[in-house]
Amino acid sequence: MAIHHILHYPDPRLRFKAAPVARVDDEIRMLIDDMFETMYAAPGIGLAAPQINISKRLIVIDISEKRNEPLALVNPEITLREGSQKSDEGCLSVPGISEGVERAARVVARGLDRDGGALEVEAEGLLAVCLQHEIDHLDGKLFVDYLTEMKRKRIRKKMEKARRQAM
Ligand code: ZN
Repeated sequence: MAIHHILHYPDPRLRFKAAPVARVDDEIRMLIDDMFETMYAAPGIGLAAPQINISKRLIVIDISEKRNEPLALVNPEITLREGSQKSDEGCLSVPGISEGVERAARVVARGLDRDGGALEVEAEGLLAVCLQHEIDHLDGKLFVDYLTEMKRKRIRKKMEKARRQAM
């Protein structure tokens, strides 16, 4: 297993539309393991493959307190959205930033599990938010896109400054 480097906003690679996974094989399972390791180390509650510069439709999530309820979804899709909720969101690709975002309150997501079997997840609350946030990443969409242009610009400046200071 390996911890991968996480791309930071406004890296243009975060904007690519990721390609579907053709087959869930050992290579994909290894990648899923790496994604969990990277997410737990960060630490975070969700990670999408494009965040580690792998343009594949693959997400991992663990919102449990004990960090022992891993959920991996290959080629995930949201098949139902209901209601709305607003909560503060952050992102491992936008470190140090947390802003309120409105999302569906309940979702049903469908995809494949790490063995290639069909998996359907019904979620509400934090898990619903997390699924919507991570699946957005696969289409090059970030939570900052839901904010006002003014807020987004301010965040972008902050990120660019942090990047310059790190170099
Ligand atoms: Zn994110």
